Amino acid sequence: MAIKGELLIGGESYQGGGKPFFAIQQATGERLGDAFHGAMPADVEKALALAWDAFSTYRETTLAARAVFLESIATNIMDVGDALVTTASAETGLPKGRIEGERARTVGQLRLFAKEVREGRFQELRVDPADPERMPTAKPDLKLRNVPLGPVAVFGSSNFPLAFSVAGGDTASALAAGCPVIVKAHSAHPGTSELVGRAVQKAVADSGLAPGVFGLLFDAGFEVGQALVADHRIRAVGFTGSRRGGLALMEIASRRKQPIPVFAEMSSINPVIVFPSALASRGAEIAKEFIASLTLGAGQFCTNPGLVLVAEGQGLDAFLDTAATQIAEAAAQTMLTAGICDAFRHGTARLESKPSVTVVGRGKAGTELEGQAVLFSTTGSALLGDPELQDEIFGAASLVVRCADHAELEHVLSSLEGQLTIALHIDEADFDMAKPLIPTLELLAGRLLVNGFGTGVEVSPAMVHGGPYPATSDGRSTSVGTMAIFRFLRPVSYQDFPAPLAPSVFGSR
Ligand code: NAP
Repeated sequence: MAIKGELLIGGESYQGGGKPFFAIQQATGERLGDAFHGAMPADVEKALALAWDAFSTYRETTLAARAVFLESIATNIMDVGDALVTTASAETGLPKGRIEGERARTVGQLRLFAKEVREGRFQELRVDPADPERMPTAKPDLKLRNVPLGPVAVFGSSNFPLAFSVAGGDTASALAAGCPVIVKAHSAHPGTSELVGRAVQKAVADSGLAPGVFGLLFDAGFEVGQALVADHRIRAVGFTGSRRGGLALMEIASRRKQPIPVFAEMSSINPVIVFPSALASRGAEIAKEFIASLTLGAGQFCTNPGLVLVAEGQGLDAFLDTAATQIAEAAAQTMLTAGICDAFRHGTARLESKPSVTVVGRGKAGTELEGQAVLFSTTGSALLGDPELQDEIFGAASLVVRCADHAELEHVLSSLEGQLTIALHIDEADFDMAKPLIPTLELLAGRLLVNGFGTGVEVSPAMVHGGPYPATSDGRSTSVGTMAIFRFLRPVSYQDFPAPLAPSVFGSR
């Protein structure tokens, strides 16, 4: 499968007439291959018209047919073979092993959604029979099911070029729900996007579906994505990226004549709380695991542990000493884009310039395109007095907050913004102290975990990858796991419908 820099619209693929841009080999900063061309307004209109047209038939596909379609996307992605791994690795700077793992997760996710679709529980069928004898008024016959929202615009993320991109979680869950998808390709991995897009396009054709079920658009700027979100035929948005980008799209969606939901996953610093007994008994061990999690993938995970809360006490020095020794061993790593690397450098410099912040340790220095891991510390009172200390620095940077005591730690905790994850490091002797905190933690984050770190998100029916703002725009949902399908569904009640008129899924009930 060749990379041609082409838009995928309906069954066609052709070069857009918009501004050209290039894929970049992140490790060297050099251009990779020929130019990609952005979509023009006419291309966007064509993709939207086709998606809207496809919705009427795609939403009526049998669950079995939809499941087979999702499985064939998975098969086609695997069939792209090594070219996909090589391209994604070059465009993102992520090692091939990581990309292979992510590809397995991506196809596994598609197959999991296929299973979910076959089982059909997401329809949430409810039948509440009539009771004409009920007093004082007769009770109507009510049936309920979930229906798909309509075409969905998906913005892939830079840090998961497969699992959160063209055929990633947002696309898989929207297609599973019965919604056509138009993807605005992330400009940091356009070749990867095209290869995966072609795999999806082939699955659409092989499954005999309307060609508008899937579209892939490129853009050198923001016009295409903004036009998609503003268009009346788009009924929901899936986004993973920066807070600024997510807020811009939410603003556009809310100003529409018919506002629509934007499911944006944006920014989180994923606090880690180390409790006193765990700190005293195994502070050094926790520090080793923490630095391993912090530096994984150059720290470019939305679940990266960016804040550690700990009360002064026995074991804190051992924790910090070990963390400093471990981080000193961390090699600098290529970051996803020059822009992200620049933002990382600015963010760490800004934090370092604060009088209340000290450097605990640094990783090995690298090239201009590599991120150097760094660990800072501050006090609980400083964090309480300076909200900027909570700002996300995307990359391998974290801040240890030394709280005077547990009461101050609780105070700091309740000052935090919404998070994707909060990790508790606890021994049994800490349980009495930890238990009363749980209700506060539930209000703060989508996933609470014990004696682990948030990096490594299991794709599971019981996973929540979400959380209160600004972790996401809507903390009632998840972007990982089968529950993600509910973002793209809406319940409809059918009152007193005669059987021949009621949706066939209710049979003769
Ligand atoms: P990004 O800059 O927000 O871009 C994400 C996608 O949205 C891209 O397709 C981008 O287009 C588009 N976009 C951005 N701003 C837009 C706007 N104002 N209007 C229309 N479209 C817009 O995010 P990123 O490049 O993936 O990563 C940058 C930052 O995002 C990181 O530094 C980090 O803070 C955050 N991030 C968070 C997570 C998370 O899971 N929470 C994951 C990854 C990144 P282009 O392709 O043209 O740029």
